Amino acid sequence: MTRDHASGGNADSATDRVAAAITDAIIEHRLAAGTKLVEQNLATLFGVSRTIVRQALIRLERERLIHLEPAKGASVAKPSVQETRQIFATRRYLEIPMITDFVRKATKDDIRKLRHHLIEEKSACNQTDVRGRTRLLADFHVLIATIMGNAVLAEVLSQLVTRTSLAAMLYQTRLSAEHSSAEHVELLDAIEQHDAGLAAQVMEKHLNNVEASLHLDATFADISLALIPDKSSAPA
Ligand SMILES: [Zn+2]
Repeated sequence: MTRDHASGGNADSATDRVAAAITDAIIEHRLAAGTKLVEQNLATLFGVSRTIVRQALIRLERERLIHLEPAKGASVAKPSVQETRQIFATRRYLEIPMITDFVRKATKDDIRKLRHHLIEEKSACNQTDVRGRTRLLADFHVLIATIMGNAVLAEVLSQLVTRTSLAAMLYQTRLSAEHSSAEHVELLDAIEQHDAGLAAQVMEKHLNNVEASLHLDATFADISLALIPDKSSAPA
């Protein structure tokens, strides 16, 4: 989303460029969760000062994409099981009503844009273009908000899908890219039929499937839950 902001020579745009490059690498699964990010190395790599790198890292920490520790420096965030569940709950709160609203407003041109995106998505899946398909699958959700003309929603969703991408790396999704892409087609079909109820159902099913495909039950972020499993069933 912020990739187009890289032009110009001021500090803000340099910060944007570094932050966007790291975000892209996370979405496309080129940077694994937990990877150390050394300030000096990034400064050399991007040809910017450490101050610029630090500003970018602070921004990414605010977006929960990286973790900053005073003594240890920066590393790509590792969302916990609880955080991952909250990310999906938040996406359901936002994206199910969003799709219902979109069905009412979608024009033929909007549907054409989304159809075009899904063709690219399918071709990336067929060509086993892992980076491309990971990015396109994530972008589909943000594109709906963008087409609706709601920049704030697009920004919030962009952050949430990037965090979902991190979780998918950490908890190894069982859902194939082809399956996700097929669900996107199903969703767009419902939108095209102006069936708001069906579109909401498909979106809910899709988000549930993506969440269920993660191995969230296999690991415990909290060592006390891992060692005393009964604690995990305590009422919240
Ligand atoms: Zn999706």
